[in-house]
Amino acid sequence: MYIIIQAEMYIFKLAFIQISYNYNDIGKNKTEALKNNLLENFDISIEIFNLNIDENTNLIPLINGVDCVVNCTDQPNVFTTGMWIAKACMPLQIPHIIGGGYSTHLGMIGPTIIPFKSPCWGCYEVQTSEPLYKDYTIIRKRKTSYSGSINVIASQVASLQAFEVIKVLTNISSPSMLGRKGEYDPFKLNFNFEFFRRHPLCPLCGEEKNRENKEKLTGVAK
Ligand SMILES: [Zn+2]
Repeated sequence: MYIIIQAEMYIFKLAFIQISYNYNDIGKNKTEALKNNLLENFDISIEIFNLNIDENTNLIPLINGVDCVVNCTDQPNVFTTGMWIAKACMPLQIPHIIGGGYSTHLGMIGPTIIPFKSPCWGCYEVQTSEPLYKDYTIIRKRKTSYSGSINVIASQVASLQAFEVIKVLTNISSPSMLGRKGEYDPFKLNFNFEFFRRHPLCPLCGEEKNRENKEKLTGVAK
């Protein structure tokens, strides 16, 4: 079962990036068209939600019980939506993967997050705000901008993220992006990776949340 959540949008023209659609889809609802095109080729079941999400959206009823969540949302930016997704996935202990693009031409690969086992998005947020990292150019947060993306970013990032999902859901290999975030620059054809660790002050999996989680798992309040 696949669940697709996307704001209600309609296809008004085709761009090279939209390889999941064809000219017959112009004017159609984006999620409906994607679902129909996928079902033509694959024997799978898909549930769709046309939904604008923001920091106040309660995603928990929608994702409760799923095996993995992939964040592909990019508005207002991938850093912000990454936190929205993480806040919903962490209490439910759902593995999730953050990805997307920013700075007009950079693709973001990972991180892959296994709640309370790997560093999480909250850990990343805490560490990127630490003075220690201010001059460390790789891990520093990039500027975001509102612009279109190019196919080579979307296809590369999507392909790598999809294989991360397979690693999370099977024992084929350990996920490669635990505590690791990648940047793909198609112009320089560079992949850069930065590493981060679990942080005791993380609002999602730090010492306090970790204790609450252990209590929930064992049923023992200390
Ligand atoms: Zn954390």
